Amino acid sequence: MKNISTYKSTCSYCGVGCGIDVKKDAKGKLTVEGDINYPVNKGKLCSKGMNLHYVVQDTTDRLLYPQMRWSKQHDLQRVDWDTAFTRAAAVFKSIIKKYGPDSVGMYVSGQCLTEEYYLANKLTKGFFQTNNIDTNSRLCMSSAVVGYVKTLGEDTVPISYEDIEHADTFMIAGANPAWCHPILFRRIEAHKEKNPNTKLIVIDPRKTQTCALADLHLQLKPGTDVVLYQAIGRAIIEEGDLDWDFIKNHTDGFDEYRKEVMRRPLKEASAITGVTIDEIKLAARYIGNAKGFINMWAMGLNQSAQGTNKNLALLNLNLITGQIGKVGAGPFSLTGQPNAMGGREVGGMASLLAAHHDLKNPEHRQKVADFWGVDHIQEKPGKTATEMFEALHSGEMKAVWIVCTNPMVSLPNSKLVEEALKKAKFVIVQDISNKADSIEHADMILPAAGWLEKEGTMTNSERRISHLERVIPAPGEALPDTEIFCRFAQKMGYHGFDYQSTEDIFKEHALLTKGTNIDIAELTYDTLKKERSVQWPYVNGKSTDRLFEDKQFFTPNKKAQILTSGVENNSDLLTPEMPLILTTGRIRDQWHTRTRTGKVNKLNQHISDPFLEMHPKDAEERGLKDGDTAVINTKRGECRVNITVTTDIKEGVIFMPMHWGKISNDIFARTNNLTANAIDPISKEPDFKFSSAQVAKY
Ligand code: SF4
Repeated sequence: MKNISTYKSTCSYCGVGCGIDVKKDAKGKLTVEGDINYPVNKGKLCSKGMNLHYVVQDTTDRLLYPQMRWSKQHDLQRVDWDTAFTRAAAVFKSIIKKYGPDSVGMYVSGQCLTEEYYLANKLTKGFFQTNNIDTNSRLCMSSAVVGYVKTLGEDTVPISYEDIEHADTFMIAGANPAWCHPILFRRIEAHKEKNPNTKLIVIDPRKTQTCALADLHLQLKPGTDVVLYQAIGRAIIEEGDLDWDFIKNHTDGFDEYRKEVMRRPLKEASAITGVTIDEIKLAARYIGNAKGFINMWAMGLNQSAQGTNKNLALLNLNLITGQIGKVGAGPFSLTGQPNAMGGREVGGMASLLAAHHDLKNPEHRQKVADFWGVDHIQEKPGKTATEMFEALHSGEMKAVWIVCTNPMVSLPNSKLVEEALKKAKFVIVQDISNKADSIEHADMILPAAGWLEKEGTMTNSERRISHLERVIPAPGEALPDTEIFCRFAQKMGYHGFDYQSTEDIFKEHALLTKGTNIDIAELTYDTLKKERSVQWPYVNGKSTDRLFEDKQFFTPNKKAQILTSGVENNSDLLTPEMPLILTTGRIRDQWHTRTRTGKVNKLNQHISDPFLEMHPKDAEERGLKDGDTAVINTKRGECRVNITVTTDIKEGVIFMPMHWGKISNDIFARTNNLTANAIDPISKEPDFKFSSAQVAKY
């Protein structure tokens, strides 16, 4: 067609990372289509991806120019960029001088592009000289990161989507990919349709859309995951379905693991988990007899005060059966956000260092410091997402810079977050939307360019790096985040932020990966444009679809580590006053706090209102009927929403989606008013999946 230009991009929602063709006509009107040649989605898009152009073209909620106030007593006023940068630099300098570098921090997002993430990390760790930078990926993937590092020696997803078409057994735990990773799930669906003997085990306290395809649904009690995976492990051992050769030659720790899992009889595990012995044995048989076993999981595991142990216990099922490092097999964490993995590559978390270098390792710290041209990098890990807001609340931290995320709705215990923002001396909110709730407490608002308005790269769940083209200019005075960071850094007097292009930033990041397990040193934008995408490591012009085929893991002795995992539950305690388990999650057509998907009528039609799912028996005990408005209480706060009575949820468990906030005087659905800020002691990931609660009629 004439006068239509096509641009290559990647969907900016979930970690599946579908390729998109963006078409722009002569009048600048945009449409999107799935990229037929992209290996991830082969032309398909889900409802969210299909409607991305509406989000971009509706600029009614966009932040258009910088705003700031001179003190808490003043109102926000429009200023030019130079005034904003001068003021931000003056305040940061003064706070760092008076209270030390650890009094400031950045809270960024798995939706940032890799180049933005890289600069935010360099700015904070290299130049503010604090490790207080964390990301909302802490809320989704940090337990999986710790699991991978401990067992495989590196934060790495060993397999590719392509392995789906070669597997004959899948286990999906704590995830609902039919709704939350739809295009990836379509691949499993299509594969199972062609190969009807393919088995699917789903582990979830709710009967979700994903269960419709399952051969076996294990409807466990929330919080009992580790006991269940250990019981499956025991049943595999008892059936003799272990891969002894793999265990002997390529792992450590099997004997301790065997002792641990054999301690609890299946009968006891069944009583704890609510899953029958036959179901446990059948799951073990499916896994034990598999030629190719893929183990997938997401937030149901990670977002837990036991997130690390759940990950370890799950990964062990691949290790004892040798289902890793071969075609159609391996553990596969499903990333929530589009660039959570890119963010980890550049070290954009409080506990990480750039290019997967180890923050605890003095040589690594010095290497990165030398690379950035600074004296040193602090050894002490920075404050993680929830810790940062607790520190702002207590006064230990004074300033926070929030980039592309909406913590007042998305962090647990939102009342504490709101109080923290009120108490902070200086809050910068850098966003595209004036609907971001944190803006209410901002001392400075910086308008950022959004998807298609800037270029950069992202990495999806299978280590696939893609380049996103700039298609249209940003509205008003909004700037790419990279430019915002560089101009601020220059006002601070920092060197090393005078890049000529976004590609220069990418080149610097890529160079730092040289010789590491994620080596992409030779990768350029030109290659990415030509190849469309590659999977890291990318060495000698070769993309890596699968890791560990040589059975050489990234641990010091090259063996995978089978680690025992405690079963203690550090979540909220159930009490007679708070006897129900509240678990939270997503729905199909909304994304995070709805600042983008909430603008699209078509997406609002799927499920238009917030709700609380409840089992009929629990509803009846409380005199509640389907559609009644209920008050939900936890130790943190209250919400009011209409209830959906359904047998799809386990008795004693209630579910509420996390997307909404205040709807009316009667309906208040900020789910994180209810959630606890309990965190996993190692991964520091918050526990969104287990809060003790009570429900009553409103
Ligand atoms: Fe976008 Fe994920 Fe849907 Fe693909 S599956 S179109 S990446 S939201």
